Amino acid sequence: MQNPFQNAMSQLDKVAKIKDFGDEFINSLHQPDRDIRISIPVKMDDGSLKIFEGYRVEYNNALGPYKGGIRYHPDTEVNEVKALAFWMVLKCAVAGIPMGGGKGGITVNPRELSKGELERLSRGWMRGFSDIMGPQKDVPAPDVNTTPEIMDWMNNEYQKITGDKTGAVITGKSLSKGGSEGRGTATAQGGFFVFEALRKGLNLPEKCKTAIQGFGNAGLNAALIWSKAGHSIIAVSDSKSGVYNENGLDIEKLAEYKKNTGALSGFPDVKEITNEELLALECDLLVPSALESQITSMNANKVKSKVILELANGPTTPEADEILFEKGIIVIPDILANSGGVTVSYFEWDQNLKGEHWSEKEVFDKLKPILENSAKKVLENAKELNTDLRRGAFILALERIQEKIGI
Ligand code: NAD
Repeated sequence: MQNPFQNAMSQLDKVAKIKDFGDEFINSLHQPDRDIRISIPVKMDDGSLKIFEGYRVEYNNALGPYKGGIRYHPDTEVNEVKALAFWMVLKCAVAGIPMGGGKGGITVNPRELSKGELERLSRGWMRGFSDIMGPQKDVPAPDVNTTPEIMDWMNNEYQKITGDKTGAVITGKSLSKGGSEGRGTATAQGGFFVFEALRKGLNLPEKCKTAIQGFGNAGLNAALIWSKAGHSIIAVSDSKSGVYNENGLDIEKLAEYKKNTGALSGFPDVKEITNEELLALECDLLVPSALESQITSMNANKVKSKVILELANGPTTPEADEILFEKGIIVIPDILANSGGVTVSYFEWDQNLKGEHWSEKEVFDKLKPILENSAKKVLENAKELNTDLRRGAFILALERIQEKIGI
C-alpha cells in the first residue's frame, strides 16, 4: 500500500493526464517549499525529560500565507503531514480564499499525557516553529486531537515570544481568546452546504439514510446537523466501535451517552458493528470523518452507499477511487467537502486582523455562497471533462494556482 503522500501525488498525476497544465507546473507541486522536523523536549510530571518529534510542512504559498492544522496522533509521520499540507493547498484554492497550504503535527498519543504535559508540549511546538509562524507567513489551526485550548496555549506562547497581540497567528482559538463564532462546527456545516448544493444533481432523496465514520469534531457535528435536517443517521463509529440501527439513531442522546461513558458501545437499541461493517452498509450517503486511507482497494468493492462525502482528509485511496467510479458511486472529495473548516479559519484570521467579531449567522451567511459556488464549479468541471468530482475539484484548484504563479 502507498503512503498518503504517494496517494496524493498519484491523484495529481491522474489529473495532469486529463488536462495539460504543463510539466513544469505539475513538477513544482511534487514537493513542499519546506519540510521541517524539530525535537520538542518536555519535562514530564515524574521529573523525567521526554523528547517528542514535531513537524511543520509549508507546501505552497502562491495564494497567501501557509494555512493548515496541527495533528496529534501516535501514527503521525512526515508523509502523512506532507499529504495533508498538499491537500490544504488545493482546498484553499477550491474555496477561493487567499491562503496557501501547510500542515503540522506531533507524533504523540495525547491521551497518555497529563494536562500540564500537553500544555508544555504544545507550547514547545510553537516555540520551535515561532520563527516561521506569523499572520502573514504561516497560520496553523486544529486537526485531529487538537482543541481550542491547545490553540490558545500556542497563541499565548507566540505572543510571549513576538509581542504580537492580534491573535491572527493561529485559528480555532476559543471564543474568549479571539476565536470565531461557528469555527467548532464549520467543517460539518460546510460539508452540509456542499451536500445540499449537490444533492439534487446527484439524484439523492430528500431524506438520506446516512452512515458516519468518526464521532469527533467533524463526525459528531455532521451527525447532529444531518439529523436535525431530517436525515436518518443509521450508523456511527469511533476508533473503538460502531453502532447501527436501521431506523435511525437518536444522535443527541448518543452524544450525551458517549460524553458520560467515553464510548458508543452499550448504547440501548442498537446493533454493535465494526468500522469495516459500517463502510459496507446499504445507505444513500457515507460520510468518512475519521482518518485517511479507510476506503482502499481491499474494501471499495463492498461499499454500497450511493454517494460518499469526505469530511476526513484522504479517506479514499486512488485505487479505491477507480473502483468506486466504475461502480457508479460518487465521491464528493475532501478538498471540497471539508473546506468549510479552513474557510471559517480564514474568517477568524480576517476578524483578528480587523479587530472585529462576527455573529454565527454572519459567519455562515458568508460561508454558504462560497461553498455553493465552489461545488457548482466542481460539478461543471467534472461534467465537461467526463470525469469524477475529485478531478473536477483538482482542476479548479490547479487553474487558480497556476493563474497566480504564472507558469
Ligand atoms: P477528532 O479528533 O475530533 O475526531 C476523530 C474521530 O475519529 C474520533 O471520534 C475518533 O475516535 C475517530 N477515529 C479515529 N480512528 C478511527 C478509525 N480507525 N475508525 C473509526 N473512527 C476513528 O478529529 P476531527 O477534527 O473530527 O478530524 C477528523 C477528520 O476530519 C480528519 O481527517 C481531519 O483532518 C478532517 N478535518 C477536520 C477539520 C476540522 O475542522 N476539525 C477540518 C477539515 C478536515
